[in-house]
Amino acid sequence: MKDCIFCKIVAGEMPSTKLFENDHVLAFLDIYPGAQGHSLVIPKKHYVNLIDVPEKELQEVIKIVKKIGVAQVNGLGAHGFNVHQSNNKEAGQVVFHLHFHVLPRKENDGLGFRWNPQKANPEELKITQEKIIKALK
Ligand code: AMP
Ligand code: ZN
Repeated sequence: MKDCIFCKIVAGEMPSTKLFENDHVLAFLDIYPGAQGHSLVIPKKHYVNLIDVPEKELQEVIKIVKKIGVAQVNGLGAHGFNVHQSNNKEAGQVVFHLHFHVLPRKENDGLGFRWNPQKANPEELKITQEKIIKALK
């Protein structure tokens, strides 16, 4: 895909700090890391996000997400990791080539991934449940 930075990285037209590569997937370090070791895992083919990626391709990507997270634990001494992924501009997606962020975590590292939880209203839960279940069919 023309004008896609991640496609350029896959094609070797832009530099990256590579961690892992196979026929389907590339993993590299984020250039604006939220934590040391913050990694990105992408399919080599251009998909915008989870909405358009075929399941088979996604399986290949998610396998490497796990591999990178485990390597952060074993290689960086992380105590855990977060996987973060955004779909569409309104959800905070900035680069429109599917990618998973894998962020190593340590106790008291100050990284926050918090939303503002509100006690659910049982009626709203039911209405929302019905809408989503209908869309799943
Ligand atoms: P998102 O907000 O989920 O679309 O995240 C895009 C991520 O890509 C950000 O964390 C950027 O720091 C990262 N990023 C953008 N350009 C590059 C690049 N050339 N190499 C590595 N990471 C990049
Ligand atoms: Zn792309």
